[in-house]
Amino acid sequence: MSKPIVKARSALRSVRLWLDASAAPDSDDDRIDWLRALPFVLMHLACLAVFWVGVSPVAVLAAVALYAIRMFALTGFYHRYFSHRSFRTSRAVQFLFAVIGAACVQRGPLWWAAHHRNHHRHADTPRDPHSPRQHGFLWSHMGWFLTPRAFRTDLARVPDWAAFPELRWLDRFDTVVPVLLAAGLYGLGAWLQRVAPGLGTDGPQMLVWGFFISTVALFHATVTINSLAHRFGSRRFDTRDDSRNNLWLALLTFGEGWHNNHHFFPGSARQGFRWWEPDLTWYLLRAMAALGLVRDLKPVPAWVLDRAKD
Ligand SMILES: [Zn+2]
Ligand SMILES: [Zn+2]
Repeated sequence: MSKPIVKARSALRSVRLWLDASAAPDSDDDRIDWLRALPFVLMHLACLAVFWVGVSPVAVLAAVALYAIRMFALTGFYHRYFSHRSFRTSRAVQFLFAVIGAACVQRGPLWWAAHHRNHHRHADTPRDPHSPRQHGFLWSHMGWFLTPRAFRTDLARVPDWAAFPELRWLDRFDTVVPVLLAAGLYGLGAWLQRVAPGLGTDGPQMLVWGFFISTVALFHATVTINSLAHRFGSRRFDTRDDSRNNLWLALLTFGEGWHNNHHFFPGSARQGFRWWEPDLTWYLLRAMAALGLVRDLKPVPAWVLDRAKD
């Protein structure tokens, strides 16, 4: 095949990958595919539209609420449930939070869990997908997932979840969820402009705050755990990786900043091991357990606390 045809084919595949994750082939290419990464870049640029659309209390409220709900879906479900199976729940709740997780624009639950399981397995070794020790800070923060190597979902890492057809479908077409969220926010803003003009919002403003600004903030907060939480903070346990405990990151990410705790004992639904270590995800999971929505939250075993240096 001639070179231009090969190039055109690979460009088409990059575009197809925006919508259908199953189009990703096996690859060990570690160069950033900028065409595939274009929506990620545009999402950042779209935040600049704030200078045109302005601000209103209701738009900021939407941004904050969507940050909080989606952060909990990531920490409680993508991470503590799908990646580590640290509690149990019903198939309906499992799917509901998988959908909210997909609204974060951090790919589907199987993709997320498979990469995260690889991170724990190879933490800070050359096979860790996002180690700042191996590949530098910027790459661990937002380079690694923009490469052909990282696009594919390694189903062999998540056979437990691949058995659910609804999760496999969501993992393949995860883009549908954020597109619907963005459209819904635009519609909500347009409706509020009509029925409650005193709120001072409209479609474009709701879209920029509720979707773009909230999603970009959510993204950067999440990936600080890959970058900053392997660099800055204290080490209670002598793990082989560089994981740290960091209060500021724990506040930002609803408890995930107790990352050295978590690397030492990933099987617990709780990451703030001491009462003075705020872990909002743990409190919310406890509340959900009280309501009967989740069950069998795995605690921190006594032998783990015995090994702690403080
Ligand atoms: Zn880690
Ligand atoms: Zn983990």
